[in-house]
Amino acid sequence: MSTNKIIVANWKMKLPYKKAAPLLKKFSSIKFSPTVQVILCPDFITLPLASNILKKSKIKLGAQDAALADRGAYTGEVSPVDLKDLGVAYIILGHSERREYLAESDALINQKLKAVLAVKGLIPILCVGDKVRGKNPKTILFKQLAGALKDIKLAPSQSIIVAYEPVWAIGTGRVVTNSEVTLAHLLIKGFLTKRFKPSQSRVIYGGSVDAKNSANFRDILVVNGLLVGGSSLNSKDFLTICRNVLK
Ligand code: PEP
Repeated sequence: MSTNKIIVANWKMKLPYKKAAPLLKKFSSIKFSPTVQVILCPDFITLPLASNILKKSKIKLGAQDAALADRGAYTGEVSPVDLKDLGVAYIILGHSERREYLAESDALINQKLKAVLAVKGLIPILCVGDKVRGKNPKTILFKQLAGALKDIKLAPSQSIIVAYEPVWAIGTGRVVTNSEVTLAHLLIKGFLTKRFKPSQSRVIYGGSVDAKNSANFRDILVVNGLLVGGSSLNSKDFLTICRNVLK
């Protein structure tokens, strides 16, 4: 059976390291549907532990960021090559919290994307999103996509995931309407299919998804999956979300 939904758990920096092992063990014992690909993204220091605990599970490992180069004098950064060697398969790039608090620009995200794509087997999850509800999402999304994807070519075996994450909906409890999600996804997919084969890109949604509202997303055909922040730290809620998007 082929996987038809991607569900990314972004633990951000919310979980104390001391509490990571029990939660990882809970996740590794969950029997997720084979039609869902779960990607768990803990913080950097939790990755080795996660790699070890999840090695027999179907959950794939993701990182929340990566350096803009594979090696060199980049104090505080983590090489995408080392992430791959640790068992990481996906890298979130351009998350709105990094754009906001660390002033990450589209140009920097573009460099990071290139560094990630240079490592065989790594798949980037590029986050884009408008800040103010209803304020020209097309212009903002296209600017972010054009900047991040500048000069990027995908080899036939490569693919990219783009997460549409309206900033006004992240961690705020404000929920998008189906038509807002559909419009943004169609815009993003349209942009991507001008550059890559349709099968090389998938578009997922993120922003205040929880156990209660997750069922809203299952009928929106253009949504290839979800990126879940806060609610992904509760294994029961996360499982409910994974089930709801399939029903
Ligand atoms: C996120 O971390 O990208 C996110 C969508 O967070 P939340 O689900 O908490 O809004």
